[in-house]
Amino acid sequence: MTPETDTQDLPGWARLARSGDLEDRIGRLRELASPCRLCPRDCRVPRLQGALGHCRTGPGAPVASATAHFGEEPEISGTRGSGTVFFTGCSLRCLYCQNHQISQGTDMARKDPSSPGGLARIYRSLQDRGVHNLNWVTPSHVVPWALEGLLEAASLGVDLPLVYNTSGYDALATLQVLEGVVDVYLADLRYGDDEAATICSGAPDYVPASRAAIREMARQVGTENSLGPDGLLRRGLVIRLLVLPNDLASIRDSLAFLKAELGTGVRIALMAQYFPAHRAAEEPLLSRPVSAGEYWRAVEWADRMGFHNVLVQEFEAQRFYRPDFQRPQEPFEDSRHFAMPVSREDAER
Ligand code: SF4
Repeated sequence: MTPETDTQDLPGWARLARSGDLEDRIGRLRELASPCRLCPRDCRVPRLQGALGHCRTGPGAPVASATAHFGEEPEISGTRGSGTVFFTGCSLRCLYCQNHQISQGTDMARKDPSSPGGLARIYRSLQDRGVHNLNWVTPSHVVPWALEGLLEAASLGVDLPLVYNTSGYDALATLQVLEGVVDVYLADLRYGDDEAATICSGAPDYVPASRAAIREMARQVGTENSLGPDGLLRRGLVIRLLVLPNDLASIRDSLAFLKAELGTGVRIALMAQYFPAHRAAEEPLLSRPVSAGEYWRAVEWADRMGFHNVLVQEFEAQRFYRPDFQRPQEPFEDSRHFAMPVSREDAER
């Protein structure tokens, strides 16, 4: 095999590491970090000098947990799991955050950042476990440093596709630097209504920011997902719509946006896993789980609008998505024994 054909099999970021371009991308991201406008909060604090913005995260990428996770979409988890790297801190900080132990204000959220070499060893150990991809969970506020680890990891022989698993609250400038670096965007589209985004996440600009971000992700990787011979996602976009109680997510509006902008073939996952975690009890509209009726109504809207690449969660599977980061090696219950149905009819059969 020639060196050229050799590199063709590598994910984009690994090719950029070999060409030297990844270093340039890191430099551009570090510039975005001081004054910090890595995410739409646009805090403009000097992160490189240790100042803290809304995400309460200093320079560096602290890792709360790194593990093989089987609860992602089947084309991402496969049979050997997705190599999830959970970073601490978050720029969105939702009232109901299921990962609040690591994302918001606890001792665990104040972990020391990993060095680039330490991150590289984490990525390498996940690859050694046989996972199908590297899955950065909530990376938007730490992406320059997460990428520094990836550059080091290239010299350790890491060559896994990169999944960017985000709340959808991403700055265009940051995403533009990531073109060709990220193989798979796995993005939430949490709200279709500014008032709900303000109440639940203190982000009055979430709707326009996330919609612009998703347009940019689709521009980079397209909406026709490319699967490998093993059926796993190699390049593409998956949009997650978390159904919230009392229609706080305005799922119908988000579906209308997706249909108009990306078409009905875009891969979407309708998530049933909401439960009132963290500070959800402070907001009466958030203080109960989603009902089966609310969830299936969202499925029906997607169906009626003509979406035909929809992942429907088993409603009763909610408990598999409740992490406990006091067990950082295995924060989630292993969900391999339950199958995700493809339709309501399948689920009710
Ligand atoms: S990444 Fe953090 S400091 Fe930077 S703009 Fe976003 S919330 Fe503010």
